[in-house]
Amino acid sequence: MMATRKPLDLTTLLEKARARAGAFLAERVGAMPNVASARTHRLAGRIAHAKAVPSVCAYCAVGCGTLAYVSPGGKLLDVEGNPESPVSGGHLCPKGSALFGLTVNEARWTTVKYRAPYGDRWEDRPLDWAMDRIAHLVKETREKTFVKVKNGKRVNHTLGIASLGGATFAIEENYLLGKLMHALGVVSIENQARI
Ligand code: SF4
Repeated sequence: MMATRKPLDLTTLLEKARARAGAFLAERVGAMPNVASARTHRLAGRIAHAKAVPSVCAYCAVGCGTLAYVSPGGKLLDVEGNPESPVSGGHLCPKGSALFGLTVNEARWTTVKYRAPYGDRWEDRPLDWAMDRIAHLVKETREKTFVKVKNGKRVNHTLGIASLGGATFAIEENYLLGKLMHALGVVSIENQARI
C-alpha cells in the first residue's frame, strides 16, 4: 500500500525561511559580520524592567489611554500611548505626548503661589493657608451676592461665584464639585472634561 504524501504547507515554509534570513541579516552588514560590541549587546531599553501602569491622559475630555512606566523603585520613567485603549489605540496628540515632561520637570511649580492685591510678585504660601483663604472668600462673596427671591420667584442663587473645573477631574470628582456648587447656589458651573 502506497503512503499518502502530506501536501506542502508553503505559507509555513515561507515564514520559516523569512525568520532564518532575518536572524542571519541581523548578525551581518552586507557580507560582513555585524560589529556590535559586547557592551551594545548588554544594553537594555530605559523601560526594560519598568512596570507599565495603564492610565488616562489628564488634558482633555477625549480620554486617550496611556501607559505610565514606573521603575521598581517607584520612579516615573516615561509615558506613552496605550495601544490597548479603545479610545485612542496607542495615539496621543502633542499635549498627551508631553505628559512625561508635565510631571517630571525641574521648572514645574509645586507650591502655592499668591500675588497680593496690587502686588507685583508671586509669594510662596502653605497649601492650608490657600484653602482657608479660598473658603473665606467663597463665604464672604456668597453672603454678599446671594439672592433668595427675584421677580416674585424663589431663586436661591448667587451670580457672584463661578466654577470652572479642570481636565484632570474624574467623573466622581466632578460629581462632588457639582454637588458643592449647587448646594452653595452657584449656577455658573462649567468643566472642560467629563471623563
Ligand atoms: S492625548 Fe490629546 S486628545 Fe488625547 S486626551 Fe490627551 S489632550 Fe486630549
